[in-house]
This record gives sequence, structure tokens and C-alpha cells, in this order.
Amino acid sequence: MELAELHALNADLHCHSTVSDGWLEPADVVRRAKANGVELLALTDHDELGGLAVAAATASELGLRFIPGVEVSVSFADETIHIVGLGIDPQNSGIVAGLRQIRSGRDARAVRIGEALAAAGIGGALEGARRFARNPALVSRAHFARHLVASGVMPDVRTVFDHYLVRGKPGFVEHEWASLEDAVGWIVGAGGIAVVAHPARYRLSNADMGRLLDRFVAAGGEAIEVVSGAHSEDEMRRFATVARQRGLLASRASDFHGEKESPVDVGRCNPLPPDLTPVWSRFI
Ligand code: AMP
Ligand code: MN
Ligand code: MN
Ligand code: MN
Repeated sequence: MELAELHALNADLHCHSTVSDGWLEPADVVRRAKANGVELLALTDHDELGGLAVAAATASELGLRFIPGVEVSVSFADETIHIVGLGIDPQNSGIVAGLRQIRSGRDARAVRIGEALAAAGIGGALEGARRFARNPALVSRAHFARHLVASGVMPDVRTVFDHYLVRGKPGFVEHEWASLEDAVGWIVGAGGIAVVAHPARYRLSNADMGRLLDRFVAAGGEAIEVVSGAHSEDEMRRFATVARQRGLLASRASDFHGEKESPVDVGRCNPLPPDLTPVWSRFI
């Protein structure tokens, strides 16, 4: 396929289902993507591959091209970084074991978040978060936030994060996720392409961002989300420049979680700058 044709394709390579912290079942995410005109979709639940089989089957019924994906939680320079894996083999034992280990740490973290909120005067938050988590193995801060909104503590999810769930706030607990090298290694080992997710969302100095990308590339990472539902236009331009300077493949990603919580619907992202090489050139 020619570069212009690749750019014309409606690709959305990052979104979530109820298998992590999305609101829609995997099959419904795929149906919504199809209805929104998506032509190439990756489902990328946090630290979980459990939705991929159903999503792939639904996509096949609908005649929608599908890429199995995942969004892996990583610790780097005191910050949590997300690395998306695209085109991974969901049966690969290395990534399956690595993600299982992340989920067990995530579970222990959820208990500590519940304790931290209780110490701040909000009891029952773990039980509340678990009611919002359709997958008991995957309790996210988003589930805590939804519970705090439902119980009237805060008006919306964003406000819960600002007041309770980010570093320095009472419900935040430190946590060690996977290393960058492990995450990229699992993805590449499972036949996938590693992508730095929503790079503008990390509180990193320019020097630390440089070190992140150096280590990412050294570990075998190849792509970066330039267009993201979590990026402003200025942030998009900043990371388009990064992609050019480092020769990285560029991804386009709504990071859709649900109608009420996501600024950009699945398949409704801006186009990539036309000179960049889309990461989906590797799948078409
Ligand atoms: P966790 O992986 O459990 O730390 O949760 C991270 C998830 O929480 C992200 O993937 C988003 O879905 C959500 N999230 C993080 N920060 C915010 C925020 N400021 N506002 C709304 N949702 C957020
Ligand atoms: Mn999420
Ligand atoms: Mn993310
Ligand atoms: Mn995401």
C-alpha cells in the first residue's frame, strides 16, 4: 500500500474494554469501532489479553481488520509509563507470564489504595472499586474513581483523580510496575511492535524523555503515539517532531474508554501528519 493510502485508512490502535477499565464489552467496542468507520482496530487493555479472542472473532464477523494489542504498565524515573504492544501473539508464554505478574502486583496495590482512602476518611472504597471492575484481576484507579463519583464524594472522574488518586494526594500509593526493558522485551518476544503510549501525559523533564526514548529504542521499541485522544494539537506536533528526529513509526490512537470519560471516540482521532510512517504499515 502506498503511503497516502495508508494515511487514508481509519486506523485506531489503542482502546479499552471491560477486560480492563473500559465501559464496553470487547465485542461492543469492536461494533462501535465499525459503526464509527474504523478500518483497522487494536484493542489494548491494560495488562490483560483476555478480551482479544472475542474482539478478533467479532471483528472477523464484521469484516473489520483487527490487531491484537495490550497496554503494559511500566515504572520509569518515578513515573508510570504505558507501552502499547501491537500484533502480539496472545498465546506467547513470555508475555502471558509477564502480564500475570503485573496483575498480581496491581491487585496488591488496589488493597493499599483502599487502605489509603480509608485513612483519609473514605471507607469501603476497595469493595466499591471491585463492583465497577468487571474483571476481578484488573482493578484500576479508574474503578476507584467511578466508585467515588457514584457514592457522591466527587462530581466526576477527573476531579477524583485530581483530589485523591495522583501523587501527593491521599489515595495515591507508590507502586513498582514492570521495567521498560521487560515490557518491550515481552512485546517483541511475542512478535509485536512496542509503542510509547500518549507520550505527552508523562511528567518527565526533556532529559528524562530523551533517556526514556533511548532505552525504549535500545530495548527494541519502534513506535510512538503521535496522535492520541490524550494529546492536544501542540502536543501532537511536539511528538511528530520526535518521531521524525528519531525515525520512529507513528501511531494514531483514541485511547477510548467510554462515551462519558473519553474526549475522543473510537475512530475519531485526527489524521497523522502525512510525512510520518504509520505504524500500521507493518500490519497491512
Ligand atoms: P491505573 O493503571 O490503575 O493506575 O489507572 C490508570 C487509568 O486511570 C488510566 O488508564 C485512565 O483510564 C485513568 N486515568 C488516569 N489519570 C486520569 C485522569 N487524570 N482523569 C481521568 N482518568 C484518568
Ligand atoms: Mn485506562
Ligand atoms: Mn495509558
Ligand atoms: Mn489506554
